[in-house]
Amino acid sequence: MRYSGLKVIKEALTGHKGWRPAWRDPEPKKQYDVIIIGGGGHGLATAYYLAKVHKITNVAVIEKGYIGGGNVGRNTTIIRSNYLLDGNEPFYELSLKLWEGLEQDFNYNAMVSQRGILNLVHTDAQRDAARRRGNAMILNGSDAELLDTNGVRAMYPFLNFDNARFPIKGGLLHRRGGTVRHDAVAWGYARGADMRGVDIIQNCEVTGFKIENGKCLGVETSKGFIGAKKVASCVAGSSSRVMAQAGMRLPLESHVLQAFVSEGLKPLIDGVITFGAGHFYCSQSDKGGLVFGGDLDMYNSYAQRGNLPVVEDVIESGMALIPALGRVRMLRSWGGVMDMSMDGSPFIDKTHIDGLYFNGGWCYGGFKATPASGWCYAHLLATGNPHEVATAYRLDRFRTGRMIDEKGVGPNPNLH
Ligand SMILES: Cc1cc2nc3c(=O)[nH]c(=O)nc-3n(C[C@H](O)[C@H](O)[C@H](O)COP(=O)(O)OP(=O)(O)OC[C@H]3O[C@@H](n4cnc5c(N)ncnc54)[C@H](O)[C@@H]3O)c2cc1C
Repeated sequence: MRYSGLKVIKEALTGHKGWRPAWRDPEPKKQYDVIIIGGGGHGLATAYYLAKVHKITNVAVIEKGYIGGGNVGRNTTIIRSNYLLDGNEPFYELSLKLWEGLEQDFNYNAMVSQRGILNLVHTDAQRDAARRRGNAMILNGSDAELLDTNGVRAMYPFLNFDNARFPIKGGLLHRRGGTVRHDAVAWGYARGADMRGVDIIQNCEVTGFKIENGKCLGVETSKGFIGAKKVASCVAGSSSRVMAQAGMRLPLESHVLQAFVSEGLKPLIDGVITFGAGHFYCSQSDKGGLVFGGDLDMYNSYAQRGNLPVVEDVIESGMALIPALGRVRMLRSWGGVMDMSMDGSPFIDKTHIDGLYFNGGWCYGGFKATPASGWCYAHLLATGNPHEVATAYRLDRFRTGRMIDEKGVGPNPNLH
């Protein structure tokens, strides 16, 4: 079913009896060309582009829970293309370009809103770093503007400018960045993939791999064995657990990240603001709630819930930046499990096992990567070769010394 304004009017006049479920609920077949493990944003985007771009439709997405129940439905919805390093920026720029045409492409309203992201700077050295990053972004086709204090003040007069400890000295503005309705991304890709013949199998957990003579022949699941020519893992925070079933130890750790939403307020923040002197970022949803987050909980976990010390830390950072937050009531918070890699950058690669592929290490920035991740993973699965913007995302980059350490903090997954 195509969605359109006319369809909405027709349904409104006929009692809404014509809507159909957005995707089917099929039983798994015995054999597929490609099995994608994980019905998060990346898994569903991969299935969508496999079917749409490469015409490979004998595909199953196997999801242990319900689609959108993982990080794709838990993140703070920020999209951007403001990376510094060559291995990263062309990839994220492709992603942002795909976001820009996504809703027309999959005929679904994902509320893509390019409302602009402002990264604040608080020292002269930070301003130099922001200028360098901005230049790298522009060289890769992205957009960047360096604002001085007055430029920031004109946009957000309520920030704490003259805080003696963290004075605001300007900011790097990335106008094409913004937010997207996160779970609608999962639904839009699911609907588009299903429409082209992909089976989305929910409530089906992958519990093992069938590997013979170095070749992966399929997956063991809670619904029995399912065969496939190619198996593509795409399970984000569960990556190390799933790939351990294939005997692989990955260069990543799982950590908890929390997100927070305040009560609904009148329009206050029309873009996304990030604090440069602490870890805090904030935007306002269309319902009026302030959506914000900060640091990881800093210990390894697979639990999708966070702890109070980080709540306190995030709110303190928020208060240092926006003192008016002290009057706002918090509505809810939740946690997600992040697959933090050793250099903070992701993987889209073949494994040493024939027919087994791996996509992961998205850390807490994988939502913005969803379209390009799906695009490049589908390219790898269909052609056997990495996409030109994802050639750096190799699993062996630590062995060969080709790390992509965007933050320059070394092999500390919790600091990236
Ligand atoms: C609080 C928070 C805030 C964030 N904010 C941002 C942000 O503002 N911007 C940004 O770019 N990124 C952000 N992220 C990161 C982003 O959400 C993730 O990097 C990204 O969503 C991960 O990819 P995914 O959508 O495919 O993951 P998921 O949605 O987690 O998908 C993985 C799926 O695999 C399934 N699975 C796991 N094990 C199995 C198994 N054995 N069998 C079958 N299925 C299995 C899971 O159930 C899950 O549905 C944030 C994350 C969190 C938690």
